[in-house]
This record gives sequence, C-alpha cells and structure tokens, in this order.
Amino acid sequence: MKRMVISLVLVAIVVVVSPVSGHELQVVTTFSILEDLVQQVGGDRVIVNSLVPRGSDPHSWEPTPREARMVAQAELLIANGGGFDDWLLGLMKNAAKVDSLLVFASQGLEALEHGHAHGEGDDHNHHHGDPHFWLNVPNSIFYVDQITQGLVTASPDDASYFQERSRAYIEELVELDEWIVGECEKIPRENRVIVTYHNAFSYLAEGYGFEVAEFLVTNPEAEPSPRDLARLVDLLGGMNKRVLFAEPQLTSGTRYMQALAKEVGGELYTLYSDSLSTEISTYVEMMKYNTRTLVEALE
Ligand SMILES: [Zn+2]
Repeated sequence: MKRMVISLVLVAIVVVVSPVSGHELQVVTTFSILEDLVQQVGGDRVIVNSLVPRGSDPHSWEPTPREARMVAQAELLIANGGGFDDWLLGLMKNAAKVDSLLVFASQGLEALEHGHAHGEGDDHNHHHGDPHFWLNVPNSIFYVDQITQGLVTASPDDASYFQERSRAYIEELVELDEWIVGECEKIPRENRVIVTYHNAFSYLAEGYGFEVAEFLVTNPEAEPSPRDLARLVDLLGGMNKRVLFAEPQLTSGTRYMQALAKEVGGELYTLYSDSLSTEISTYVEMMKYNTRTLVEALE
C-alpha cells in the first residue's frame, strides 16, 4: 500500500514538470514560408503565426491593427531581411514587447545583384539585391540554422528538443536538394531559361543550373514599363520553347503574363515564390511543386 502511494506521488510530479504542458513560445514571422520553417523546428513547443496571410504578397503588405496585436504578443519575431520585409520594423517600434527577440533569417548570406537595369523607380525597396534566398534549398538550410538559434535563445529549456528537430529537418532538406538537382538535369541546356513576372528566381537559377532568370519587374509593387514588355517579347520570340511562369500571389502580374503568353504564342505555368497556399502548405511541397512544373514545362 505504501509503495502504491509513492508511485502515485511520482506520477503526479512527472505530470507537473512535463515540458509539454508548459509554456509554448509565441513566434511571429513576416510571411508564410518562414512560418513553416519555424513550425518544422519548433514542433509543439511553439505557437507560430505569419503576419502576411497565405496567398498574399509580402512585398506590398500594409500592416493593420490585427498584425500590431500579433507583434505585441510575440516573444520571438522572424523576418527575412535583405529589404524584403522592412515594414516589420515600423510595426515593431510601436507594438513589440521590449524584451522580444528579432532574427533576420537571411543575415550573413550574400545577395545576388539584379541581372540588368530596369525602369527607374522600381527598385527603391530592393537596393540590397534579390532577397528571395529561400528558393535555393542550401540557403533555406542556412535559414533553419538561424531560426534554430533564435528559438534556443528565446527558450533555452527547449534547446535539445529544437536542435533534434532541426537536425532531422535539415536531413530532409538535403535530400530534397539532391532530388531537385537530379530532376533539373532532365531539362536540356537550351531550354534553361525561367521567365517570370518579378525578380525572385536568381538563387533558384544559380543553384540548379538555369542559364537565366528573366523577369518583367524587379519589385511587384511596380507596373512593368512598355520597354520591359518589349524586351520580354523579343526574348521569348527567339526561344524555341516559349514558356512563361506566373506566381499565384501576384494577381495583376498574372494578367501581364497572360497577355505576354498570348502575344508570343507561349504557354503559361505557375511557380510559387513568396507565399504558400492552402494546396501547397509547406516549403518542401512548394519546392517539389516548382521542380515538377519546371521539368514539365521545359523538358
Ligand atoms: Zn518577391
């Protein structure tokens, strides 16, 4: 009888100190791709929310009181950096807790410059070069390391939990990267041109052996100039496979791409760049979808 009492007491203690029933770290990210990376590492020890909802464009985001409240509750904030989501800083100035921690996932990566000059006035937000590092998997592994460090700093008690999940996720990303490299080898050299609406694909092109990533606008907040449109009509006219890619979060951009495809008798496909969706809900799914689309369109 006495032994049973002791074991009941032990059970009670284990339940009380079990970290799962403890405090979950409140994390806020600027956009949905970072939200997924944090969720993969943070598991059930974090509550993570993205300020920009899935399917919306993070470049032109205008924060509302809803996002100010989210920032006010965050213990850890994760942004991309590189000029991509600077609007967070203004929001934080007014709303963030004094002891909250801010991590720029891309800090330390070297930005690629834009391929060529564009219509003036469309690059004021992008003076740092292309900020879309995550479209190349090794860069996302760098992000995951930065995110893991941020989580460990904000919640040291959960360090081994985060580090274990981080290692497992990075293994999955290494496999993903090898798979993408293998798939892209199916695309003949002469077809290795990615024509998109906005300049998001320079790291994907560099990492996976595409000759060029051509685009209409540097920043999707700007409208393309007639000169930009004429340049792409010329380029596509000289290609034996006239393929263009729209991006689901850029509705007005898609209209321009549809018009261009019609003008050159080309085919329009979709690539994900800045946002996940309800159908494509993780980073890994997004990269697989993009790879399958590139192979189907350009093989
Ligand atoms: Zn973008």
